[in-house]
Amino acid sequence: MKLPPFEYACPATLREAVALLASHNGEAKAIAGGQSLVPMLAFRIAQPSLLVDLRKLPGLNEIKIGDDGVRLGALVRWRDILDDKRLDAAHPLLKAAVAHVAHYQIRNRGTVGGSLAHADPASELPCIAVTCEAEISVTGQTGARTIAASEFFQGALTTALQPDEIITEVHLPAWPAKRRFGFQEFARRRGDFALAGIALTYDADAGGKAGNAHIGVFGVGDRPRRLAAAEAALNGRTVDEATAVKVGEAAAVEVDPQEDIHASAPYRRALSGTLAERALLAAAK
Ligand SMILES: Cc1cc2nc3c(=O)[nH]c(=O)nc-3n(C[C@H](O)[C@H](O)[C@H](O)COP(=O)(O)OP(=O)(O)OC[C@H]3O[C@@H](n4cnc5c(N)ncnc54)[C@H](O)[C@@H]3O)c2cc1C
Repeated sequence: MKLPPFEYACPATLREAVALLASHNGEAKAIAGGQSLVPMLAFRIAQPSLLVDLRKLPGLNEIKIGDDGVRLGALVRWRDILDDKRLDAAHPLLKAAVAHVAHYQIRNRGTVGGSLAHADPASELPCIAVTCEAEISVTGQTGARTIAASEFFQGALTTALQPDEIITEVHLPAWPAKRRFGFQEFARRRGDFALAGIALTYDADAGGKAGNAHIGVFGVGDRPRRLAAAEAALNGRTVDEATAVKVGEAAAVEVDPQEDIHASAPYRRALSGTLAERALLAAAK
């Protein structure tokens, strides 16, 4: 399908990009990998008057790893994450999740910033950001600000971004050595968006008990969210099959699934519980 008409700009600085986004009365849009936006243009779901191509903006395609955690520039692609061996230790959950994102060709172009800004409720990275208490840095005409991931996602395809704001970076806090993780999702075909998914971390104490549990769900509801009751069912417990069953039951009760053409609400509820149970057992291994 032919795209609707639009103007195109490819600025060389962040300041210029922000000014361009602000210049079209909220009708300009950033484009990064184009893997979500171009289909939306083709289907006329989006009809921006100006596309601001971010690909020449300097410094946004770096993965920085330091004592305070991992910083992913907005133009980092899925492929960059999968190819970065440092992330095996610095953030194994991120790597495990990104391995489920889309297909080979899409992973070569799709970006971190595009995924966060697009805010598909079934996307992996927004759930990792919420589960790990990430912070998202953005820059607009009034300057730069940092938004907690838990406040950034406001609904399906809806975020706290203002029309003139560009995501520059997402910061995932440091990954302690004692941290265990599990990531489970179910999609009809590998690479498709998940019908439901769970990201789980906990810190194992010397006696083998779990603490500091973080359990996030995606693909169920209009945005990724933490599951407080499932986390409470894990904290302070020895991780075994009985605990996994309890965590799974708590997750299934706590989710608020929607029905659509892909799955019924009761199916998504049961699936969420099963995936939480499996994620915990995988983490324990
Ligand atoms: C067949 C198919 C399967 C897919 N499967 C999955 C999947 O399983 N999991 C998954 O997570 N994703 C999936 N995707 C989506 C893919 O990962 C996208 O690449 C990603 O969501 C958007 O990244 P992008 O760089 O392509 O963004 P674009 O398409 O360029 O932009 C998407 C949106 O983000 C905005 N934007 C982009 N960058 C910025 C920025 N830095 N600051 C502010 N706004 C910005 C744009 O204005 C636009 O609104 C799939 C896509 C396809 C086509």
